[in-house]
Amino acid sequence: MILLDQIQHELAALDAKSLRRRRRHAESPSAPRVKVDGRDMLAFCSNDYLGLAAHPKIVAAMQEGADLYGVGSGASHLISGHSRAHALLEERLAEFVSPHLQNARALYFCTGYMANLAVLAGLAAVSGKETELFSESLNHASLIDGAKLSRAKLHVYPHGDVASLGQLLAASTAATKIVVSDSVFSMDGNLAPIPELLALCEEFNAWLVIDDAHGFGALGAHGRGVLEHYNLCSPNLVYMGTLGKSAGVGGAFVAAHADVIEWLVNKARPYIYTTAAPPALAHALLTSLDIIQGEEGQALRANLQALIAQLRRDLKLKRWTLMPSNTAVQPIVIGDNAESLKAAATLYEQGFWVPAIRPPTVPAGTARLRITLSAAHTAEDLAMLIDAVNALEE
Ligand SMILES: *Cc1c(COP(=O)(O)O)cnc(C)c1O
Repeated sequence: MILLDQIQHELAALDAKSLRRRRRHAESPSAPRVKVDGRDMLAFCSNDYLGLAAHPKIVAAMQEGADLYGVGSGASHLISGHSRAHALLEERLAEFVSPHLQNARALYFCTGYMANLAVLAGLAAVSGKETELFSESLNHASLIDGAKLSRAKLHVYPHGDVASLGQLLAASTAATKIVVSDSVFSMDGNLAPIPELLALCEEFNAWLVIDDAHGFGALGAHGRGVLEHYNLCSPNLVYMGTLGKSAGVGGAFVAAHADVIEWLVNKARPYIYTTAAPPALAHALLTSLDIIQGEEGQALRANLQALIAQLRRDLKLKRWTLMPSNTAVQPIVIGDNAESLKAAATLYEQGFWVPAIRPPTVPAGTARLRITLSAAHTAEDLAMLIDAVNALEE
């Protein structure tokens, strides 16, 4: 029993620090109004930024996909699991992001987590030990794990600190240099200075890998994400967008020059050694892309922007602080773990589902409420939350 004793001891330590996580059971589709553990709640916690996760047209496309292709892919992409649906989706994605990349090709992955492992390990495999990786300090856990898997020499540069990155790149003699950053920081909501990062990467002949998990679909006039938002195009760019957030379905893609993608297909182990995602998902994503690119997507993004402005205008905080974010991720920093949990619990009792985010997901002493907005929220939904939060701090 000694092994189990160790785990029980560590779990008790998590409890003592208010760090034990528990999962609630959502009993209805992802939407502002959800049933959770038998209760009707107004949710401000999903990454379903455009409200597409239960969109009737995409649900119908998923059903059609199951009729056409069945439910499982049966094998990995390099054996027999690569279906026509996957190929069509990759063509559409490449075409969609092509204004921002040279000779773009796209590669569909089961999850963004795996896509990040594949990109970093795959690019690092080009020159093995001669690779150096320059990673932003607030990068997503999947990029941190991808950096480990790559076995490249790792430099972590301070959050948003372009000057420090420049010094590190200038001092590097590595054969392959890879700079990697989130576009929208998932726990803070702010944007990375991507134009400046890209200028450095072009100057020092480095790849710039951008994780646009929270930007794809939500940012840019057509929803092409952060590269459209900043109007960037470069052969140094490797782009990762996820398809389980704004796109409402699941999976992710990497887009880059066709030769980069060809290399990943041949060398990236997290792509090669896993069963291909169900083709029905890829089929449903074609409809999701239609919506993102079309007029409906534009209207959804406009509503999201209006909600962001409403929150920032009407929230009146005293000790707590709203972080400087213009995206759908709007965190309120409270600081103390227990106080954050208590705030989330009080909101929950009142019918608002807003998660408390604690270390190690965020730095110690910066526990927060993380409000995420969706185009499916109404101004009235948000006004109710704002009133509840304003009353909470008194
Ligand atoms: C969600 C997220 C991922 C992982 O994507 P999944 O498709 O959920 O695995 C990667 N990077 C960032 C910044 C994310 O927020």
